[in-house]
Amino acid sequence: MARFKNKVVIVTGASRGIGQAIAVAFAREGAQVVGVARSDLSGTALQVKTAGGEFVAVNADLSKGTQKPAADLVAQILKQTGRIDVLINNAGVIRRAPAVDFSEADWDEVLQTNLSSPFFLCQAVARWWRAGGREKSAAGARLKIVNIASLLSFQGGILVAAYTASKHGLAGVTKALANEWATERINVNAIAPGYIATENTRALREDAKRNQAIVERIPENRWGRPEDIAGGCVFLASPEADYLNGAVISIDGGWLGR
Ligand code: NDP
Repeated sequence: MARFKNKVVIVTGASRGIGQAIAVAFAREGAQVVGVARSDLSGTALQVKTAGGEFVAVNADLSKGTQKPAADLVAQILKQTGRIDVLINNAGVIRRAPAVDFSEADWDEVLQTNLSSPFFLCQAVARWWRAGGREKSAAGARLKIVNIASLLSFQGGILVAAYTASKHGLAGVTKALANEWATERINVNAIAPGYIATENTRALREDAKRNQAIVERIPENRWGRPEDIAGGCVFLASPEADYLNGAVISIDGGWLGR
């Protein structure tokens, strides 16, 4: 099945990890994927093409988190693709330090990358949609936005105050935008991944004690794979999920239910 043929899917943070898996999952469904990251995206490009999709690489730094760069980025993408059907706000960073030592620079980087940039990208894409973009879609088709949140959209975590603030904020923004835009045929949902095996979490897996404690606490008894999150994104972006709006769905092997 090529359910996303002729559809354009933007994935931020597509150079590795969860974002790369999301790009490949949409490519398997025939999508044109626009991957955004600071570093080289050629590895993702190759995987996307092998999976049957097209790929557009866009180098951008989302750590400034302000309105104009987000608008410019969306304009630049539209010049190349002519349309946008799905936006996956996946790029994210984590900085660890005790709250009493947390630096302003780290606080700003995390908040801007994980919360402000996703918000302003949502805004830019929704402005295009409302200004006539939706006329390019089939009758009744909807613009789909998926924000990648975290278990720390619900829990406090330890030594990661800025990350927790950003991911709680992203869950709130998801609901706020869904409330405002549902009647505009826009869906805004979030996925809260559990413990997923990526570069980001390598240190935890390499610490035998932490690793054991984490795996024992997960009902599924294993780390999640980036593909586990990608499947949820494809579902949320598909017409089967058109009535699903403003939700923060955890894909965590059962962690939160425990
Ligand atoms: P990785 O560190 O493996 O990948 C992060 C991605 O974000 C990279 O592609 C990176 O690209 C991009 N990125 C980071 N900063 C910027 C920036 N300033 N501008 C543009 N792109 C940026 O992380 P994961 O794949 O593990 O995480 C992806 C998302 O999932 C994040 O939002 C994370 O918070 C969330 N998450 C992950 C969990 C996990 O267990 N792994 C659990 C819960 C949530 P580059 O460096 O090339 O710019």
